[in-house]
Amino acid sequence: MADTDWVGKLSGAAGEAKTRYQDETAKLNHAVKKSDSIILSPRDILTGEWDAARTLETTLGGIQRHITKEDLAAFSQNIETVKQRHTLEGIKAQQVIDLSDALDRKRTSSSYKLGKKTIEPITQASPVLANGQVIRFITNAGGSTPGVTRHHVVVEFVKLNAFASAAKRGDKDTTIRAFAQKTAKDLVKSPLKFYCDCERHKYWYCYIATIGNFALGKPYGLLQHGYPKITNPTLDGIACKHVIRVMREITTSPHVQSYLAKHLEKITLSHKKQGTTQQSQKDAEILARTQANRTDHTVQTTDEKKAAAADAKAARAAKAKQAITKLAAKAPVPERKTPKLKQAEAAADKVAALRAALAPFGLEPTQEQINAVLKG
Ligand SMILES: [Zn+2]
Repeated sequence: MADTDWVGKLSGAAGEAKTRYQDETAKLNHAVKKSDSIILSPRDILTGEWDAARTLETTLGGIQRHITKEDLAAFSQNIETVKQRHTLEGIKAQQVIDLSDALDRKRTSSSYKLGKKTIEPITQASPVLANGQVIRFITNAGGSTPGVTRHHVVVEFVKLNAFASAAKRGDKDTTIRAFAQKTAKDLVKSPLKFYCDCERHKYWYCYIATIGNFALGKPYGLLQHGYPKITNPTLDGIACKHVIRVMREITTSPHVQSYLAKHLEKITLSHKKQGTTQQSQKDAEILARTQANRTDHTVQTTDEKKAAAADAKAARAAKAKQAITKLAAKAPVPERKTPKLKQAEAAADKVAALRAALAPFGLEPTQEQINAVLKG
């Protein structure tokens, strides 16, 4: 597959996302109601009781087994931990990366085997359409879902309108442009909500996002109030590989940031703080190609970035030390000669030359001869 094939037609992306979203909503609603559902309803946890006829199971502790009262207490505790971690509305893009599971980050940057299939990493993501505070992204797909070549990740920057409103009234267009370009850098570090149309997001992480107040709900995404008792009973991790890729591009890609600046400019100029910005097919393909050509696809947490920077610094210092040692060994520092020493050496050389000249005749220089040579 060529680097840009997965991009497909951007004009149909929003419609595809909507259809997939409606299908998934129906599927999820049905799944929650099933007696052997993998999702635990909020009522089950709140009351601590459940219908004994339902064969509720969990994988808490590593193996699949029937749920006990203690499990429900453990679930409540896990819920509290997530809620305490996220007290504000939204979550920052870098925080999503920092709190993500190492396995999901690995799957974002390198391929892995699923049975006989090789699942490709998620190395490319492009914005498609921005509407108000909501930006739709598409990413390439790993290939685990048959027939799916791209995934839809929707992101809402919850403070976008507030940022746009901060521009001074009466500013000229050029000033607004400069304002938007500067503000886009703050925007990418501001709180956001997100949704991905993949299974991993829906059945592992959507619940965490919902109770953490950073899940993007209707009409762009879904909230999930049922506990993932089978897939993720310990509530670990936070984001699928598609979301991780999008967050990485939001925090680092100049192309994505200039797209956001363009959109921010439009919203700033709008009295109602409304407007849409469409990504062109050409730009999306250029971006996809640039991303595919990168040699390093890793996504680093803040701690990993710091460790890598420290390692790089240590490596540079070691290299410099090595170079200095090598240089010193190669060229020994010449001893500094005083004028007096130079004079003495010159005199000794003259006497030695005189001796060498007389030696073939079996003669030793006399003191007068030496004095004469030293004078002359
Ligand atoms: Zn996903």
